[in-house]
Amino acid sequence: MDLKYYICSKKIMIQIKYIFSFLAVVFLLGCPSVNIQKTPNPKPTIFTKNKLLLISLDGFRWDYLEMVETPNLDRFIKTGVKAKSLIPSFPSKTFPNHYSIVTGSYPANHGLISNHMYDEKLGAYYTIGPGATAVRDGRWYQREPIWVTAEKNDIETGIYYWPGSEAEISGYRPAYYKAYNPNVSWNSRVDQIVSWLKEPAIGFTALYFNEPDKQGHAYGPATSQVFEKIKILDQTLGRLFTKLKEEKLDIKTNIIIVSDHGMASINHKDVIYLDDYIDLDDVEVIDWFPVASIRPKKGKLEKVYHQLKNAHPHLQVYLKDSIPSKFHYSNNVRIQPITGIADLHYTISSHQRGSYSGGAHGYDPAHKEMHAILLASGPDFKSDIVVPSKENIHIYELMCKLLGIEPSENDGNLDAVSDMLK
Ligand code: AMP
Ligand code: ZN
Ligand code: ZN
Repeated sequence: MDLKYYICSKKIMIQIKYIFSFLAVVFLLGCPSVNIQKTPNPKPTIFTKNKLLLISLDGFRWDYLEMVETPNLDRFIKTGVKAKSLIPSFPSKTFPNHYSIVTGSYPANHGLISNHMYDEKLGAYYTIGPGATAVRDGRWYQREPIWVTAEKNDIETGIYYWPGSEAEISGYRPAYYKAYNPNVSWNSRVDQIVSWLKEPAIGFTALYFNEPDKQGHAYGPATSQVFEKIKILDQTLGRLFTKLKEEKLDIKTNIIIVSDHGMASINHKDVIYLDDYIDLDDVEVIDWFPVASIRPKKGKLEKVYHQLKNAHPHLQVYLKDSIPSKFHYSNNVRIQPITGIADLHYTISSHQRGSYSGGAHGYDPAHKEMHAILLASGPDFKSDIVVPSKENIHIYELMCKLLGIEPSENDGNLDAVSDMLK
């Protein structure tokens, strides 16, 4: 072949290759159910300790276990440990708490102070949900999640939808992870987890379900719709446990089942309309309820604060530096100058936004209705024991202990959860 022609066609081939690689990346990012995977280590280390699987059932209130028949979870509890409840961090919302669980940190320290945020330094907004791109931006995550600590220690990880798992954090990503798509069937998530756990190099996996949170919002807590979903979740977990047994993974896998928060009922009557007290043109409301995150426009802070303070008996209003210390909610640029916290069952809205009914969370974690679940079973856990309620910031230290790795900076304490371990 003519050399010039050969070089020219080779150049075209290289260009075509680049175009195909580019299209493949666009396809991978745009197609929510695909398996995203980093280039495997040339020589993966074999993980020799017991493996760890962390499961989240979003919005599973601590007392649902006593309200619905859950034969598979009951068997799991009988062979393991159940905490009376898991106390969320403030605010009792999904992203702040999922990230508290995997970093052992309060939201103000790990950066996800809410599901919806504005960061003046970054000049950027954070929002969640299917297709949200901010969740993939590593700049939002200010503490190291367990999968990063594991990967740093040459333990490969496989994460099925945990908040934060799609971002590169401190230069690391999970070896395997998925772009969030709530429509992927629960059984196929379970099948993927089992095949990840079969990989010799994988030591840590995590799995997320967006129920019973979704039904809890739509119909309220402790409703037949919530109970129906819990029954299906229980069957899904039963199928997972059976598969792990068939693969003889059960004897070398510790499983921790958590939820992020509980759920409280809300109704159309108990609404705090901000525009009854302030001019909404004076502010930007970054997040609405139960924790209103209010950013006054230039020169309006004093006015808005005085109009809102003591405006409604069920709305507690704080300036940024006076939020009660029990919330551990300070020293982050993403906390706006005014924070309004609604009392349990109350919502915050405007006349244009209207009112809500069903269920909500995000309230003060001291309310029992906001408490979540913590269950654990496996070779390193005690069996058939109930331990006192735990704060969710201690789970990271527990997981590091189970994986045999040094925890990175966090707010938790292994002593607080060591009563769960053999
Ligand atoms: P919340 O508003 O606190 O109830 O948040 C629950 C919602 O978070 C779910 O309904 C999802 O839309 C969203 N969500 C959960 N996990 C993810 C994820 N990994 N990526 C994006 N959105 C998510
Ligand atoms: Zn949630
Ligand atoms: Zn929710």
